[in-house]
Amino acid sequence: MEFKFGGSEINQRTVLGHPSGLFVLFFTEMWERFSYYGMRALLVLFLVTTMLGDNPGWGWERADALVLYGWYTGLVYLTPIIGGFIADKFMGYRKAVILGALIMTLGHASMALEGMTSSFFYLGLSLLIIGNGLFKPNISSMVGQLYKTQGQEKDAGYTIFYMGINAGAFLGILLCGYIGEKIGWHYGFGLAGIFMFFGMLQFYFAQKIFGNIGLTPGQKEDMDDVIEDSLEEIGDTIEEVKEEAENSKVVRDRLTVIGIFSLFVIFFWWAFEQAGGSMTVFAADYTDRALVGDAALTFKIVNTIITVVPMLVITWVLLMLFKQTFEKFSLSNIFLAVSFVIIWGIVIWMLNREFQADTTEVPASWFSVLNSLFIILFAPVIGKIWESKYNPSGPMKFAIGLLLVGIGFAVLAYGALAIPDGAKTASVSLMFLVFAYFFHTMGELCVSPVGLSYVSKLAPLKFVGLMFGVWFTANFFANLLGGITGSFIDPISEEYGLSTFFLIFTIIPIGAAIIMMLLNPMMKRKMHGIE
Ligand code: GLN
Repeated sequence: MEFKFGGSEINQRTVLGHPSGLFVLFFTEMWERFSYYGMRALLVLFLVTTMLGDNPGWGWERADALVLYGWYTGLVYLTPIIGGFIADKFMGYRKAVILGALIMTLGHASMALEGMTSSFFYLGLSLLIIGNGLFKPNISSMVGQLYKTQGQEKDAGYTIFYMGINAGAFLGILLCGYIGEKIGWHYGFGLAGIFMFFGMLQFYFAQKIFGNIGLTPGQKEDMDDVIEDSLEEIGDTIEEVKEEAENSKVVRDRLTVIGIFSLFVIFFWWAFEQAGGSMTVFAADYTDRALVGDAALTFKIVNTIITVVPMLVITWVLLMLFKQTFEKFSLSNIFLAVSFVIIWGIVIWMLNREFQADTTEVPASWFSVLNSLFIILFAPVIGKIWESKYNPSGPMKFAIGLLLVGIGFAVLAYGALAIPDGAKTASVSLMFLVFAYFFHTMGELCVSPVGLSYVSKLAPLKFVGLMFGVWFTANFFANLLGGITGSFIDPISEEYGLSTFFLIFTIIPIGAAIIMMLLNPMMKRKMHGIE
């Protein structure tokens, strides 16, 4: 019998119209991103916090912390090119995902021991970098393999997966951030690790749902498939040889387009990744986060709603997954259920603790939850806009995204105008950060999903993995340069003011946006019909 989706028979059972295996990947990625963003939210804050006080940090200079942040967030995007290659050639996607998750669990555990000696901290970071290389590109490829066609269904699958990414980022930043800042850094780092482990167990015990997808190259589940696949391969090869001659110019053009997208996306993430870096420093030291009276109450209510509603939605998705898969993969479901019981417990404890206090100090890490929250809220809206009459070309969407990130920084530059040159603290309204994150997120929605789907459509089939590697490598340069640029926050503020510092991230992306608009006609030609 011919299945509609890739993977096993159980994978044909759908949740929200998609194969149930998509939701196994959704929750695995959700817990992984919980760990990644939870840790990222704490990294710079922990390093720059003084060594005195009840929750001591390492008392680093801002510049040093931001450079380390740049290297860390950069290197996690350099290893995927190696991890993708290893999985393609030797290990298969599934084993790579599991091994990657295990290595990252050890990494987080090691960081939780940060109080003991600093070597644990660096060992932890290194393990996270290696583990992510094995995990991130390969789980992303598995999403695509669930679908047998290239069309809208696959795009929708990637959109749901992107929601999982952001649900994880949201909860990770919210909870690890809160616990790290208010209770103790190593509890925050440790919390990140626990869920990585649950995510891995959940994936491990459900992996048969993927059937042949992601097995070690050469290893197949049964003989029929082997024969069928070899016949298909022979057919493909004959066709490829015929087509190759006429297509080489088209392929070359399309790869050029991927190259241009990958180059311009550097400007986007370079600015965007200030989030956990200089924007977190701005939140911590230049923003008025101490709320009293009505403002405190409003914040508590808003915070409760934005936490409980997404939690209810993902719990509901989880129940639908259980309905389809519990009889076959009960152990996987049980591990996932346990992780949810723990997370609900922490959420209720945190909200309750906050309601007991009269005043509220918004954690500095809190602001970056707005990014994930806005993604979850606005991704469907932007999707609807693109479906309507107004659907600009890929390069135009990119240009709009760059423009929006520039506007977000213009808001911060405006907010920082009143801060005297060289001031080490200030207390401007927190609304500037809220608006900045809003614009940044709208920009991300124009750039990130668009880029991913163009890479998967423009690359010839045998280069898809490699091209995802190229796409992620752009993040390496962006994040590293982002950290290094951020590290100049103090000298630039002393000389020209903090406002000017943020203006750098306004001018450069807007310049890139203008160039992208000029390149639009040429790029459309070189895509040769792909939209
Ligand atoms: N937020 C997305 C993720 O974490 C994309 C990040 C990126 O490509 N820099 O996967």
